[in-house]
Amino acid sequence: MTGEPTAQHTDAETAITVRGLRREYRGRPAVDGLDLDVRRGEIFALLGPNGAGKTTTTEILEGYRSRDAGEVAVLGQDPATAGPRWRARIGIVLQESADVSGLTVRESVRHFAHYYPKPRDPDEVIEAVGLTDKQNARAGALSGGQRRRLDVALGILGDPELLFLDEPTTGFDPEVRRRFWALIAGLRDTGTTILLTTHYLDEAEHLADRVGVIRAGQIVDVDSPERLGGRHLAPSTLRWRDAEGTHQLRSTAPAADVARLAARFGGEVPELTVTRPSLEDVYLDLIGAE
Ligand code: ATP
Repeated sequence: MTGEPTAQHTDAETAITVRGLRREYRGRPAVDGLDLDVRRGEIFALLGPNGAGKTTTTEILEGYRSRDAGEVAVLGQDPATAGPRWRARIGIVLQESADVSGLTVRESVRHFAHYYPKPRDPDEVIEAVGLTDKQNARAGALSGGQRRRLDVALGILGDPELLFLDEPTTGFDPEVRRRFWALIAGLRDTGTTILLTTHYLDEAEHLADRVGVIRAGQIVDVDSPERLGGRHLAPSTLRWRDAEGTHQLRSTAPAADVARLAARFGGEVPELTVTRPSLEDVYLDLIGAE
């Protein structure tokens, strides 16, 4: 491992490059030769079971954990040696949030704005996370979901080029989750690169441009949510109903089979559905779940 920024990875197209990353705890590998590329301007979701190495990997990328081996470039620099100017270009929303419970929402956002060379306007950030109504409430009195939104406000305050989001919507109600997803997609649309870890497959499906599945410290597949694990090539399942009951057919030519069924019924096929394996199906397959 060298202390120099890895110039070969300083690429206008790439926000994060990882090659052969390793980290052991007491002789046992937590990250075991992991390779990863995150493109600038994408939302990349890291999925994996408990203990797969997601937190270890992201904390190495954030510069908060050391590594045993491998090359890492984040915004063109090695996080192990990058300084405060690099840190000001990234935003981090951790699972454990900053202790601002004694301050109001507005006070805490204004307070943290001082840490950044070019902070966003605090009132605008509070508005963006939907906390304007709560700006005078003490952080300690917010609900779990509101508190997470304050954490996100603090994470995007420095107008980061790259934002790390660790399980951001745990404890959100469905409506707030949708609004949060819109906020994150909006950040991506204005050019922010986002590395998201989540256990919610619907969140990855809704938000991510690409998904990386990590198992036992290695990436086992990277693709768009639609194509992960060869999902787009998998046979479809057709289901329909007639007087005899429900029928099911696995099909590699679903359009032709639907046409055949429609001809047989002389029009609409009762209760017809055509499905491919869900993201959850391929994910469980990739992690080798029973
Ligand atoms: P989760 O989904 O539960 O957050 P994860 O994918 O983030 O899991 P990590 O927290 O990176 O997984 O842990 C990977 C492995 O490393 C686990 O086996 C864990 O027990 C081990 N580990 C992580 N941190 C430490 C530590 N500080 N000391 C010892 N072992 C650790």
